[in-house]
Amino acid sequence: MARIVADRDRCAGSGMCALTAPEHFDQDDEDGLVLVLVEEAGEGDTEVADAVQLCPAGALSLK
Ligand code: SF4
Repeated sequence: MARIVADRDRCAGSGMCALTAPEHFDQDDEDGLVLVLVEEAGEGDTEVADAVQLCPAGALSLK
């Protein structure tokens, strides 16, 4: 189990995370920045690892 950490200061609002792992990520309606819907990610949540890799701003990490 890992905890998702999103750095909203780095987020560029591309929405890639919400497209890749919509159960865990959404975008703020006002500023477009990432919202973490579910902070815990299990080993089977491969789409979360994909979202971390695909984020163009390097704003996501797993602890
Ligand atoms: S993929 Fe990265 S830059 Fe794009 S909305 Fe998600 S956290 Fe922000």
